[in-house]
Amino acid sequence: MSSNVLKLEVDPSPLTLLSEEEQLFRNSVRQFADEQVRPLVAKMDRESRMEPSLVRQLFELGLMGVGVPETLGGSGGSFFMAVQAVEELSRVDASVGVLVDVQNTLVNNALLRWGTEEQQKSFLPRLCSESVGAYALSEAGSGSDAFALATRAEERKDGFVLKGRKLWITNAAEADIFVVFANAKPELGYRGITAFLVDRETQGFAVGKKEDKLGIRASSTCELILDDCFVERNRVLGEVGKGYKVSIETLNEGRIGIGAQMVGLSQGALECAIQYSKERIQFGRTISKFQAVQFQIAEMATELEAARLMVYNAARLNLKRVPYVKEAAMAKYFSSQVAERICSQSLELFGGYGYTKEYPAEKYYRDCKIGKIYEGTSNMQLQTIAKFILD
Ligand SMILES: Cc1cc2nc3c(=O)[nH]c(=O)nc-3n(C[C@H](O)[C@H](O)[C@H](O)COP(=O)(O)OP(=O)(O)OC[C@H]3O[C@@H](n4cnc5c(N)ncnc54)[C@H](O)[C@@H]3O)c2cc1C
Repeated sequence: MSSNVLKLEVDPSPLTLLSEEEQLFRNSVRQFADEQVRPLVAKMDRESRMEPSLVRQLFELGLMGVGVPETLGGSGGSFFMAVQAVEELSRVDASVGVLVDVQNTLVNNALLRWGTEEQQKSFLPRLCSESVGAYALSEAGSGSDAFALATRAEERKDGFVLKGRKLWITNAAEADIFVVFANAKPELGYRGITAFLVDRETQGFAVGKKEDKLGIRASSTCELILDDCFVERNRVLGEVGKGYKVSIETLNEGRIGIGAQMVGLSQGALECAIQYSKERIQFGRTISKFQAVQFQIAEMATELEAARLMVYNAARLNLKRVPYVKEAAMAKYFSSQVAERICSQSLELFGGYGYTKEYPAEKYYRDCKIGKIYEGTSNMQLQTIAKFILD
């Protein structure tokens, strides 16, 4: 039994039992995803572009500031609800899911945890109403080894000059506000890493090449160019040298969001396979009548249930402010594995049609792969899990 369980008054409700508020919220996001997102999915994937009207609607619905207090312009919801939003959107389009995920679990979250009152008041109302955010840690030479980043922040009288390049930055094409990590004291190693709030319009800042990707094609992934980009001292998020903490803490929570993205897209892939199996006739009956197909679908549903329980458990532990980091790593690791299996099986259940763009199965299959790569590869999750178990 974990120490969490012993020390707290625990609400023993089943993890998937939703409160009335959570249920209403889930239903409204699901309706929005089905009615407004679904008709645009194929076009956005084909054109590798997020539909701007959709982004506006996400703001209007309060989905870009789920966990931000109402006093700061947000929806005043919980972290669990942000996770629900990512799941429901990803059921229809994992690109829309990750846009909302980065905004809520990384950018808003970093500001809520580390921002000064002035920073929260000046950035959060914008992030909840009109400005997309992005989170820029990775570079060409530093991914898993994120703290080896080469971007530098040179100190001046009133602030810092940022110099370097960031790579793989989600939302960069749409974003106005960037959380950028740079090293202000390289001689101190990772203890020099500092987080900065950078406006898109800042001189010396530019969004560079957009990646041409396998999946989540409507989600922009771009390079950032920091060419003597001056940021004032009051734009340091947290303290100078504490950027590594900002990134560790936000990414620990972000992983639960990626788990939710994987659960959502697995749900979508399962649903379309179930529907098709009830329509497709072979040997004089629908393929859903064959026990082999029934068992495959039953197995997909079982694995999905297990992944969802892990994601919800990590999110609800986080909500209770008890240790959740191992559980978050496990949830991301497992749900991305499950997603790959479910999306692959879903595609196969469509037979030859699954291999074409006529049905959504091939897109789910392409989209799921990213779950094992970003916000820490599967090996990095295993490293975290092993540390907790063995140390
Ligand atoms: C679509 C997309 C969106 C992204 N969005 C963002 C974003 O918004 N912001 C951001 O900062 N970054 C983002 N990233 C970057 C992402 O987080 C990194 O790609 C990821 O962390 C892996 O880093 P890497 O690509 O350098 O791979 P590497 O670190 O070079 O890893 C290559 C392989 O080596 C393995 N490996 C590396 N080190 C070890 C080790 N010590 N032990 C065992 N195996 C190891 C890895 O598991 C992997 O299989 C994004 C990436 C993609 C593809």
